[in-house]
Amino acid sequence: MKNILKLSFFLLLCIGTNKSYGQYQAKKDTLLVLKNGFIIKLTPEGAIVKKGTLVIEKDSIKEVNYLNTAKTYANAKVIDLNGKYILPGLIDTHVHLATAPKEGRNENNAFMEQQLNKMLYSGITTVRDMAGNAIILSDYTRASNLNQIPAPSIFYASQFAGPKYFNAIRSYSTNTRSKRDRPWAQTIVDSTNMPLAIARAKGAGVTGIKIYANLKPLLVTKIVKEAKKQGLQTWSHAAVFPASPLQVATAKVNTMSHAWDMMYGLNTTDTITRSDLAKDINCDKLDSLLLIMKDNHIILDATNYIGQNNKMHNSVKVTKQAHKLGIKVSVGTDWPYLYEPEIPFYKELRLLIDKCGFTTEEALYSATKIGAESIGLTDRGVIENGKKADIIILNKNPLKDLENLKDLHIIIKSGIIYKKENP
Ligand SMILES: [Zn+2]
Repeated sequence: MKNILKLSFFLLLCIGTNKSYGQYQAKKDTLLVLKNGFIIKLTPEGAIVKKGTLVIEKDSIKEVNYLNTAKTYANAKVIDLNGKYILPGLIDTHVHLATAPKEGRNENNAFMEQQLNKMLYSGITTVRDMAGNAIILSDYTRASNLNQIPAPSIFYASQFAGPKYFNAIRSYSTNTRSKRDRPWAQTIVDSTNMPLAIARAKGAGVTGIKIYANLKPLLVTKIVKEAKKQGLQTWSHAAVFPASPLQVATAKVNTMSHAWDMMYGLNTTDTITRSDLAKDINCDKLDSLLLIMKDNHIILDATNYIGQNNKMHNSVKVTKQAHKLGIKVSVGTDWPYLYEPEIPFYKELRLLIDKCGFTTEEALYSATKIGAESIGLTDRGVIENGKKADIIILNKNPLKDLENLKDLHIIIKSGIIYKKENP
């Protein structure tokens, strides 16, 4: 009975995604050699595309060889890519995998695995989760790290906010478990023991603190200082009320989310309301704020797709201005992966190119290297010796047309090949 249930669950997953997949792991002590592929090296100045050989050992890139492409390797599984294109794996810097877990355990596991499956088979090899249930997230982080399931690597946050936010959210929550503070969702007030709060978050396995809402500037500064001391990142909403975007930027957080929130940084005596976010603004007025972000090396997690879906048209305008001034922009979706057939990540990238003045090269650089930087990671996001073997291989050149990013040949995460099987 148990086996039948398991099987039907598996079938359900297959039917749900309407595809079946295969997976390959090179045997121990065997190299994986990818020959005759065009390696795309993305830089802030553009892209360099050169034919070469990529050698992978276990979960890392061992060699990028452009010179001697005839070189042979002992104990190797060799794949001839025959002119296909090699890019670093994609990184989504704003997902919510477990913010609203499903009621039943099986239902929730199926939901988690379908999301992760769709992400990985779309070429997303790393995600930053911006606050959710850390028990679920740590379980799936482990499952991904051990390659038990097809999933991107997961990095997640603890949500810090003032009592006003948590009182509001918990008053309509039906889940009694969420009615009290948890290491991944903590109420922060003046009297909070900050070293302890950060240590609790750290104990829940987080990589960063999500500075979320209803926090005074002094508290934002305290969070950033203590998080840095304990080796954690700080990922803030651009406006956390009463702290303004300027105060958040001055506190030197690592990243700021939601470009439209920057509007609260306009130098105006009028109070900005939510409906103002749909109005046209003069972005030049934001320059002094954006330049402080730049000086403090703060990355903008723009989330334009959700902005567009909520009629906050200023989102792309602010992102365009930030990009023009040289601020790094990451690709975060903040939008569900299972609602629409096309993943929101492509839409986010498309908006950078169509509305924010990015070249395709720049958008892909944001989707890889800057994504890694947003999580504080230096081990991925580029194709170089010693980096993690998170790679996607495309049938056609994505620099010619972003649509080609969807035409995936194989995905390699942590040195393991994931391949869509022929339908
Ligand atoms: Zn979010």
